[in-house]
Amino acid sequence: MSVDLKLTSTEIRQLFLDFFASKGHRIMPSSSLVPRNDPTVLLTTAGMQQMIPFFLGRETPPALRLTSAQKCFRTTDIDKVGNERSLTFFEMLGNFSVGDYFKRDAIAYAWEFLTQVLKLPADRLYPTVHPEDDEAPKWWNEIAGFPDDAIVRLDENWWGPPGASGPCGPDSEIYYDRGVEHGCGRADCKPGCECERFLEIWNLVFMQFYQDLDGTRTPLPKKNIDTGLGLERLSMVLQGKETDFDTDLFRHIIDHFATLARTSYGLNARTDTSLRVLADHGRALVFLAADGVLPSNEGRGYIFRRVLRRAVRHGKLLGLDKPFLSEAADTVINLMKGHYVELATQRDRIVEILSLEEKKFSQTLNTGLYLLNNLLEELRQNNSHVIPGEEAFRLYDSHGFPLEFTQEVAAEHDFTVDIPGFEKAMQLQQERSRAAGAFTQGTDVEALTAVLNRVGPTDFTGYEGISGSSKVVGLIVDGAEVDSISAPQSALVVLDATPFYAESGGQIGDRGDLSNSLGIFQVEDTRRPLKGLIVHYGRISEGYLRLGDSVQANVVAQRREDTMRNHSATHLLHKALRDILGPQVEQRGSLVEPERLRFDFASSRPLTASELAQVDEQINRWIRADLPVHTNIMPLKEALQTGAMALFGEKYEDQVRVVSMGSSIELCGGTHCASTGQIGIYITIQETSIAAGIRRIEALTGRGAEAYLRRRSSMVDALSAKLQTQPEMLESRVDQLTQELTTLRRQVAQFQREAAQRQTQTLAEKAQDVSGVPVVAAKVDVPDDRVLREMGELVLSNLNRPGVVALASNYPERVGIQVSVSPELTRRGLHAGKIAGAVGQRLGGKGGGRPESAQGGGKNKAELGAALALVPELVKQNIG
Ligand code: ATP
Ligand code: MG
Repeated sequence: MSVDLKLTSTEIRQLFLDFFASKGHRIMPSSSLVPRNDPTVLLTTAGMQQMIPFFLGRETPPALRLTSAQKCFRTTDIDKVGNERSLTFFEMLGNFSVGDYFKRDAIAYAWEFLTQVLKLPADRLYPTVHPEDDEAPKWWNEIAGFPDDAIVRLDENWWGPPGASGPCGPDSEIYYDRGVEHGCGRADCKPGCECERFLEIWNLVFMQFYQDLDGTRTPLPKKNIDTGLGLERLSMVLQGKETDFDTDLFRHIIDHFATLARTSYGLNARTDTSLRVLADHGRALVFLAADGVLPSNEGRGYIFRRVLRRAVRHGKLLGLDKPFLSEAADTVINLMKGHYVELATQRDRIVEILSLEEKKFSQTLNTGLYLLNNLLEELRQNNSHVIPGEEAFRLYDSHGFPLEFTQEVAAEHDFTVDIPGFEKAMQLQQERSRAAGAFTQGTDVEALTAVLNRVGPTDFTGYEGISGSSKVVGLIVDGAEVDSISAPQSALVVLDATPFYAESGGQIGDRGDLSNSLGIFQVEDTRRPLKGLIVHYGRISEGYLRLGDSVQANVVAQRREDTMRNHSATHLLHKALRDILGPQVEQRGSLVEPERLRFDFASSRPLTASELAQVDEQINRWIRADLPVHTNIMPLKEALQTGAMALFGEKYEDQVRVVSMGSSIELCGGTHCASTGQIGIYITIQETSIAAGIRRIEALTGRGAEAYLRRRSSMVDALSAKLQTQPEMLESRVDQLTQELTTLRRQVAQFQREAAQRQTQTLAEKAQDVSGVPVVAAKVDVPDDRVLREMGELVLSNLNRPGVVALASNYPERVGIQVSVSPELTRRGLHAGKIAGAVGQRLGGKGGGRPESAQGGGKNKAELGAALALVPELVKQNIG
């Protein structure tokens, strides 16, 4: 059966929006493909995306009934593109109810729109529902007259956040029967079948539950409706076409590519697949670029790259060897700009970015394919069918040839790729580059000199502001000048003028970004490797940057402001030190960072506590006086006459910059606050010696000082709480506790001595008689060798007559021993050192010492008993 109304896709889109507007819905413009305020989602995949905050009650909707035609992009469907009904980029028509109407009206509106407005034959439409949903079949019956057994139950008709918490519910999908000729012919073929007969066109989602993380579902107080109707599929049905690609949304685009490839659509299955891929991907890239997605190696920029590369590869399969995507952009733009006006306004950008990326990748592809074919030839001669991992990595790393492509080409020639080998090579490379450090400075100098000779010194505009428009006049990658850079290359960028401060005079270099509509360069550091030349070091994170491009240069404001506070404070510190300690104070170095400042100066002695306090008080007085900061350029001689402080040994130009605030006057090229009040507050946190005669002061200002004081203050609160007292009483409380601790320690020591005394007595009493000599050989428990020795001496004296004592104690790592012999017995041939030696040896270690007292030990704890048993034996053998 044919459909009698031949509507264009533009008319269909409009009919949909008008229909729902007539049912009280507010028409919402399509939101961007890049979701705002939702970093968890890379690209918009459904009309519902922009409604989520309304459904979750986080934002108030402009109306309870909403409708839209939404641009969508689904990466999950990339590999399906080329079949008849799946696209990466497509338009989803939708109507939404935020706690207003529910199932009955959603079904009634859908039915009315399909059968009354579009006049689709009712007998071709098949509603499906979820098996657990008893309401939806009731409404389908009442509204459209479907008997219960004509409504297909499908388990997959459930919408919800998989494995997460959030709103969810059953859905009802409407299928269109394209006719038996499209079917698989099986008796049980029905909507939901894998074959091409039944086409899902519209999904009505009934959001009625809230699902917990553990899977528990509770009914939502306000139930929502979210529907999605694919414009391409609907157009295909209404225009009586076999595929999405035969509709008026695609035909022009397909034909454009077919003409370029000197073929036509419908001739051959293989070229048709490639033509479909080009049409879909080409359209998708135009829309991605229009919404500001720029090629990069991460996130959505990487999706852009993947789609573009796949398109270029299919272009190659079609024999296209000139850039074709940027050429086709206008066809897409002209077809779609009626509804999506951003395509027209962004036209130049879209074409530019596509052509840059396409050219770059075509080169990569050509080089890569050439090298890969040579490699395959070589391997074939060696009878190998595996591409070594290092080779695949070299193609990727040195030539940018993607691994997926190596794999694809390999497969075409019955080769495989050693993936673990590839990953290993990648890991090795990462370790190497970490070791090498970020910037290769030495080799850059030559290229930078060439840039400086060509364009002259950089104009520094950073005294007046922290952003501005500039022109790219030099690009350097790996020591060589280049015309353009693309994400994610590291590079050096030179501008004609820049607000970025280059590290000098102790003040560190600025960070920020350089951006225009084609790319973003992240400035990680700014330096002046050659006199007059300011160089931005960093990485392009998205898109492209070309020689001659205009860019907006933006310094990170907060970092710069913190740095300025610290720099102005450094001048005040210098002056305060001279005022308080005397003019012999001489600056020897300084470091001005956003987080802190450091000032080194010559002084033969540390500052006293009172001098340090005076310095802090003086600086903060100047800060409160809010002294204006003046800068003047003047001849060096004149500057020195006004008493400006200059760095000893530093070479100055004839014309110098003089920075003055109050009585502080210094020669300085750095960036400063407008007045001292902006410093906020100053605190010295440390004063140390760094070399003979050189002291260092570290200090904080502004935000850093504030955070420091807050940390200290909450530390005092926490300590007071722990010690159960008030902050004011903290000191006396600590004194009191220290006192208590001393008393307790003394008592514990006393107890320990008494306990040891008792133990030594017990040990002495247990002495055995060996040839008339009392001998103690026992294991005791003491913390260390020192206590063990003391104990040995005590036991010996407790024997009350000449004797021998050997004690052993188990420590975590080893057994320690102590042997003590009374002097009377040493004269009769006993020797503590020899006994300790024998016992130690038995323990797998050694021992030795004087005749009266000796130590030893070993690790063999199991031998402890046997080792001690040696002692009486030795006494018996050696006693004269
Ligand atoms: P399918 O299973 O066919 O991919 P889906 O279940 O993913 O569809 P939904 O998420 O319910 O589809 O999206 C609602 C409607 O959007 C679908 O009924 C269909 O008309 C359309 N749609 C979804 N994905 C695509 C796509 N990749 N290309 C074109 N249209 C699509
Ligand atoms: Mg899908």
